[in-house]
Amino acid sequence: MIRKLKLLLSIYSYKLRCLLGLKRTDIMSTINEYYREAFRTLRKEDIAVILPHCLIADRCPARFSKQDGVICSKCSLCGCGKVFESAQRRGYQFYITPSVGFTRRLVRRKNIKGVIGIACDYEIEKGIHSEKITALGVRLNGTSVKTQGIRLQAYDCIKNNVDWDRIEEIMNV
Ligand code: SF4
Repeated sequence: MIRKLKLLLSIYSYKLRCLLGLKRTDIMSTINEYYREAFRTLRKEDIAVILPHCLIADRCPARFSKQDGVICSKCSLCGCGKVFESAQRRGYQFYITPSVGFTRRLVRRKNIKGVIGIACDYEIEKGIHSEKITALGVRLNGTSVKTQGIRLQAYDCIKNNVDWDRIEEIMNV
C-alpha cells in the first residue's frame, strides 16, 4: 500500500512538474523499483529486451521486418548486437523497435509480460501522460507489462547513447 502511494505521488508530482515546466524527477527509477520484485518472478521467455532504433549505427546493415522490427545481424557496428547476444543467451526475447506504436503492438503480438526498455526523456514524458500505470503493470495496448526502464544517456535523435552495462545488469536480475 505504501509502495503504491509512493508511486502515485511520484507520478502526480512528475506530471505537475511537466505542467509547470520544472526539472523532471527520476520517475523511471521509481517505476523500476515498484515493479522490480514482480518482474523477477516472470519467466525469461516472457520478457523482451526492446531497444529503440535510434541506437543503431548509421551504416547498420540490418533488414527490417514488419513483424519483428530491425533484425540485428550482430555486426558490432553498435552496441545492440552485444545486447542481442546476451539476451538470446539468457533466454529473453529481443527486438529493436522503430516506434512506440510498434512496441505497443509487439507487446500484444508476442505475449510479452515484462519489458527491459530504453527511452529518452521525451518518450518517457509522453508515456507517463498516455499510459496507465497500475499495480499489475504498465497498460500497453490492453496488456499489463512489468517494466524495467533505462533512460538514454545522450540523445539528439542522431547520436544517441545508453549505459550499455546497465542493460546487462538488469538482464542479470
Ligand atoms: S549491431 Fe545490429 S543494430 Fe547495430 S549496426 Fe550492426 S546489425 Fe545494426
